[in-house]
Amino acid sequence: MEFNLKRYEHMPYRRAGRSGVVLPPVSLGMWHNFGTNADHENCRAMMRTAFDLGILHFDLANNYGPAPGAAETRVGRILKEDFAAHRDELIISTKAGFTMWPGPYGDWGSKKYLVASLDQSLKRLGLDYVDIFYSHRPDPNTPIEETIGALDLIVKQGKALYAGVSNYLGEDFVRVAELVARRGWTPLTLHQPRYSMFDRRIETQLLEHTERYGLGVIVYSPLEQGILTNKYIDAGGIPEDSRAADPEGFLTEDQVTQDRLERVRGLNEIARARGQSMAQLAIAWALRDPRVTSALIGASRPEQIVDCVRALDNSAFSDEELAAIDELAPA
Ligand code: NDP
Repeated sequence: MEFNLKRYEHMPYRRAGRSGVVLPPVSLGMWHNFGTNADHENCRAMMRTAFDLGILHFDLANNYGPAPGAAETRVGRILKEDFAAHRDELIISTKAGFTMWPGPYGDWGSKKYLVASLDQSLKRLGLDYVDIFYSHRPDPNTPIEETIGALDLIVKQGKALYAGVSNYLGEDFVRVAELVARRGWTPLTLHQPRYSMFDRRIETQLLEHTERYGLGVIVYSPLEQGILTNKYIDAGGIPEDSRAADPEGFLTEDQVTQDRLERVRGLNEIARARGQSMAQLAIAWALRDPRVTSALIGASRPEQIVDCVRALDNSAFSDEELAAIDELAPA
């Protein structure tokens, strides 16, 4: 099966900070729906649909599953089945920082964990290198010289082409960026923080710093794991085929509160007036600041990816719209 030959024509790619990395404004992550029990053909269809639309970036982590490692194994299989001729067009990322195997070396931020974990990820993915490797979270007990030094080592070894950090906010990030500059280490290319209408911390705790140090920013969970879509408001509750209903999903029913749904209903009125779905409004909004390189979405079926990418058809906001969004989702 051939891919869409026009896949690069309509995607308004964005440069990540002051680097050579260029990403689609919508990228696809495999945190959910690519684990052991996932429908393989649906996973293939999601990755193929994404790539046909110009989404050349797939984001993983060592622990994505369930079981931990299963998403990398599945994506490795799909890369072999469908993408073997396209490796050089793709940006594949992975991370280490959360629990992966038993004992003190299967978690957090030691050099031993990061190096061993990436070796395992490469085997599961069937790749010689990943494009981006992240420290998944700050480790309060390991010196940052060791964690960030391991990223520099990994890039110099050629096991990753670029390095990044995820979930380091405010001073945690500034300390890292200063250290990299002082030591002359491989510059960090990307930061992966959480960002949505319901979690606006990066506006005050990160974007000025990533801009100063030249990093791009790829924001995860811009749809609040599905709450900022039409899914729950249309169903008037928790639909069976939703992440909140999935016992293995990280979204729990008690996070889908009446207060949040009330706000989403109001936001959806703004979306409707703009001719957008709620998901499209949430993605366009997350991308309104040019310092945000990409919105990293998840999906449970290909149609959701198509819907999300259409956010790019209407990405400008009036001051009135922004003010109305601030009312319902204050900073
Ligand atoms: P989102 O906020 O985009 O939520 C994705 C979910 O939203 C989907 O599974 C689906 O839910 C629903 N959805 C998506 N599109 C639509 C649509 N058009 N209409 C209706 N519902 C829709 O992101 P995730 O929380 O999945 O995170 C995205 C990625 O970010 C992850 O895969 C991972 O790569 C990365 N990430 C990184 C973290 C980090 O610490 N660095 C932490 C978390 C995520 P449903 O399944 O119910 O259909």
